[in-house]
Amino acid sequence: MTFAATILTLYPEMFPGPLGHSIAGRAKDEGKWSLETLQIRDFATDKHHTVDDTPAGGGAGMVMKADVLGAAVDEALMRQPDAPVLAMSPRGKPLTQARVRQLSTGPGVTILCGRFEGFDERIFEARPVEEVSIGDYILSGGEIGALALLDACIRLLPGVMGAASSGDEESFEQRLLEYPHYTRPKEWEGRTIPEVLRSGDHAKIEAWRKAMAENITRSRRPDLWERYTGAPDQSPSGAQREKLKDE
Ligand code: SAH
Repeated sequence: MTFAATILTLYPEMFPGPLGHSIAGRAKDEGKWSLETLQIRDFATDKHHTVDDTPAGGGAGMVMKADVLGAAVDEALMRQPDAPVLAMSPRGKPLTQARVRQLSTGPGVTILCGRFEGFDERIFEARPVEEVSIGDYILSGGEIGALALLDACIRLLPGVMGAASSGDEESFEQRLLEYPHYTRPKEWEGRTIPEVLRSGDHAKIEAWRKAMAENITRSRRPDLWERYTGAPDQSPSGAQREKLKDE
């Protein structure tokens, strides 16, 4: 089955962009996913093909018009009624690996890319559109977010990744950040690869990797650590963080 992506954008020439290369590009050539872009401007009905207007109530910037967005979403829904419609938005639910995995097992995805100040709010009431954020920072448009989301989905499609297992061990799949990697040369600028990784003792290597993943997660991402252990960090470093927060 082909995972079908439909992108609603004012900049269709930005696609597939980086997704035309490497793993995603190869998968596309092999028909494992397909891409269709719809130019939002084509759904404007006035002479000048206006897609945005000034914000009601005043203020800076422009807002994408609900009538134009509605027509574009309707066209996407007609082409792919079963695919969820996601709108890129810093206000959306933060994208997670779990959601990416869920999307990748479905028929595909329709992604609405914002520009300017964003969308007329009524589009979210009038159409089944789910707002998705790729992080707590502001991009100038939804296209890069759409590329990031698609890339994350595509690499999980059956047969896309080289080693079948390499998807499962990565950061977030097991709710921990990943352990450190090393490769030859054995020594570089006086630094050697940890002895245990050269021991050939697979049980020991496994245990070392797990301990490293846990250390890294605990120190870098207390939020993930708390979810992993089911309890706030009680270690001295956790206590220190609490103290720092209070200062
Ligand atoms: N005025 C908005 C930001 C608009 S940025 C606000 O303050 O919330 C313009 C467009 O870029 C948005 O409509 C959205 O499609 C996209 N965008 C910006 N940051 C994003 C993020 N973190 N995640 C997903 N999309 C984002």
